[in-house]
Amino acid sequence: MERFRIGNGYDVHALAAGLPLVLGGVRIVSPVGCVAHSDGDVAIHALCDALLGALALGDIGKHFPDSSEEFRGIDSRILLERTMAMIRERGYAVGNADITIALQKPKLAPYIMEMREVLASLMGTDISCVSVKATTTEHLGFVGRGEGCEVYATVLLY
Ligand code: MG
Repeated sequence: MERFRIGNGYDVHALAAGLPLVLGGVRIVSPVGCVAHSDGDVAIHALCDALLGALALGDIGKHFPDSSEEFRGIDSRILLERTMAMIRERGYAVGNADITIALQKPKLAPYIMEMREVLASLMGTDISCVSVKATTTEHLGFVGRGEGCEVYATVLLY
């Protein structure tokens, strides 16, 4: 077993009016939310893909298919818990995680600390090991036009 494993994850969801917006396990006050089979927490989805990728376990679609009734409207925190169980079963823990959320609006600054707390708790690590960053794309591309939310995640396991 290697001492360290690194993984990256990426996810996008379309945004639509009147849907709840949940990012990093935190409900965001927003006129638009993610279109999804689950609760649409695109940040947790990217993070799960990074965790799975670190151990070459496939991707979130393989483990939690969006064709399954079991996962309809599911709270993505449950997906992260189940992903962490797979990581722990294999003898690994999270060293640190770094997440970048690209969203034109609303501003996420007021929610960042709570997201870090929620994610650190779900991954069994200290808040100092969980970074969540937010950026706009300066009105460029689908994110900039407010059509979608895009997230990149990187994790180190040990
Ligand atoms: Mg997704």
